[in-house]
Amino acid sequence: MKYAPFQNYINGQFVPSSSNRKLDVISPLDGTLLSSVPMSSAEELDAAVKAAANAFPVWSKTPIKERAQIFFRYKYLLEKNITELAALICEENGKTNGEAIAEIEKSIELTEFACALPQIMTGEILEVSKGIECRTEHIALGVVASIVPFNFPAMVPNWTIPNAIATGNCMIIKPSEKVPLSCARIAQLLKEAGLPDGVFNIVNGDSEIVNAICVHPQIEAISFVGSTKVAKIVYQKATQHFKRCLALGGAKNHLLVLPDAKEEMTAVNIVASMSGCAGQRCMAASAMIGVGKVDHIINRICEEAIKIVAGKNLGAVINKASKERIEKYITEAEQQGAKILVDGRNAKVEGKENGTYVGPTVIDYVRPDMAIAREEVFGPVISIMRTDSLDEAISIQNKNPYGNGASVFTQNGSLARYVIEKASAGMIGVNVGVPVPREPFSFGGWNESKFGVGDITGKSSIEFWTKLKKTTVKWNPEAGVNWMS
Ligand code: NAD
Repeated sequence: MKYAPFQNYINGQFVPSSSNRKLDVISPLDGTLLSSVPMSSAEELDAAVKAAANAFPVWSKTPIKERAQIFFRYKYLLEKNITELAALICEENGKTNGEAIAEIEKSIELTEFACALPQIMTGEILEVSKGIECRTEHIALGVVASIVPFNFPAMVPNWTIPNAIATGNCMIIKPSEKVPLSCARIAQLLKEAGLPDGVFNIVNGDSEIVNAICVHPQIEAISFVGSTKVAKIVYQKATQHFKRCLALGGAKNHLLVLPDAKEEMTAVNIVASMSGCAGQRCMAASAMIGVGKVDHIINRICEEAIKIVAGKNLGAVINKASKERIEKYITEAEQQGAKILVDGRNAKVEGKENGTYVGPTVIDYVRPDMAIAREEVFGPVISIMRTDSLDEAISIQNKNPYGNGASVFTQNGSLARYVIEKASAGMIGVNVGVPVPREPFSFGGWNESKFGVGDITGKSSIEFWTKLKKTTVKWNPEAGVNWMS
């Protein structure tokens, strides 16, 4: 085992778990056993919640400008340690180094937003009647929890940590049991940045601990990022227990390609979107709908796809089960009449025979009723459907239950505008393969890609992590105003 067994992080200390239930942490790159992660008990969660609750009175009363200073230092530490942090991500998640560096760069951008919170989360004040003023201020909620998936071991935790903590909350994070390394390193960096003990805590585990989080009486709010199946479970359970909850789920992102789209730019963008992070991005291109004559673009996509090579510029998928699931989708589509133009099944990387790789895969003549067209595949696979009309393409996109991202590739502004209006997704791209909004814009899908109100990052997250206090003050009763007295 490369690293010591993982521990929880409670009240500023790493503490061994008392649980006998442990899972192996295996590198998808080559099958190396990295560590083991404990499946913590509800009692261990309770200890973390107590630590957070103890830290809350002082932390929430610390002026926001001081709280933000921690994140200026944290940002500097992310920058300083970017090489080492990226290496951890590669090891536990299987990404390429470039993708892991990009993940930390995005974490830095997210932290910059938290550094700016003192400038943007000011309340409002207005004299609403003569001598009477109303004002609003954002108040921290208390102890909050963040449950995160495997595909971005550092970035998704950083969607929530800086904003939730800078707004004055104390947090428990539950990392993915598949990739616990990065969160532990984040805890060390936050401590080095000066974050007081108890403000940030880690409790490792699986569904059992997630369930305990959903029902814990002292946890005020829960953010969840993961599959739709689990997002629904968490959202239902958390709200049943009267908690604020924002649960982001899975995705099936459609790219609509029109014949006038710029050939090279479109092909390069689509291939980067479907194969980046081995297709394990919730904003990855998964289904392409060619409208009319787009064979020249499909040919170019194939030319670009074969330049993507497992173990070189393509990382591994998270584990064996995932590889098998992805390959099964491809085989079933083939059996149902789809045409495999580039086949990524049985990809092998020399010297890394125990790694879990799937090569880039381009499948043409997929029909909308096939499982590969409807379901989230979460691998480096693009399924191409063909239509004669833009309305039919939009209708296929609209019928899909998810709604994270959708893009259109065209040089025609009016048709692009039409797609922006009609597509049923929270994040739309025009000639952009991965239409993730950058800060200060917020991240969040629609439909079965998100449950709850608001978005997880950007300005929208301020509403999620705080409650508004509205105060009405009568300063000068001598004015003779007797309004709502
Ligand atoms: P997952 O749903 O399996 O796991 C997410 C978290 O939930 C993990 O911490 C896991 O331990 C926990 N969990 C798993 N099963 C559970 C259960 N039955 N009950 C309670 N908790 C449970 O997701 P994953 O495989 O880690 O991540 C991939 C998924 O996340 C994909 O569907 C992807 O689209 C989605 N994702 C969505 C977004 C978004 O912004 N919408 C971002 C990143 C990832």
